[in-house]
Amino acid sequence: MSVIKELLSELALKIKYYNLSDYPHLKDGMKFNIRGTTYIFIDIFNSEKVTQNILLHEIGHVSFGHRHLDCRSSGWDRRQEREADRYMIEHRADEWLAQFDWEPDVIDYDKFIEHFELEKRHYGLVVEVFDEIIGQPQLHSHCL
Ligand SMILES: [Zn+2]
Repeated sequence: MSVIKELLSELALKIKYYNLSDYPHLKDGMKFNIRGTTYIFIDIFNSEKVTQNILLHEIGHVSFGHRHLDCRSSGWDRRQEREADRYMIEHRADEWLAQFDWEPDVIDYDKFIEHFELEKRHYGLVVEVFDEIIGQPQLHSHCL
């Protein structure tokens, strides 16, 4: 997915794949800054889509200017997590809508979540993002 590659290079982010059995202390999405380059750690056995989701989430953190290295550390800021998740879902929603010639009337959220291998807990955020993208124009055209 070239959009992700572009975003990574814009933000000076690099991917570092690891094997969990060799590095049990690493977690997906962990970031380390080494001489001005930030490396995002990704489990080598993740599917391509899950890897992309993690990258989009981490790109979201960096582009929002969030400061943290580990999403799952204790005391972690829920608002920042939500913003990064939202960033990721917005990108996935754009991808999803690109397959239609015109905006669909109904979004199959379950199918969307399944297609991109998202977590079920993202359901509420997914609905919110699609509402924002296609809910508003529908409302406007109704007024005409
Ligand atoms: Zn995070």
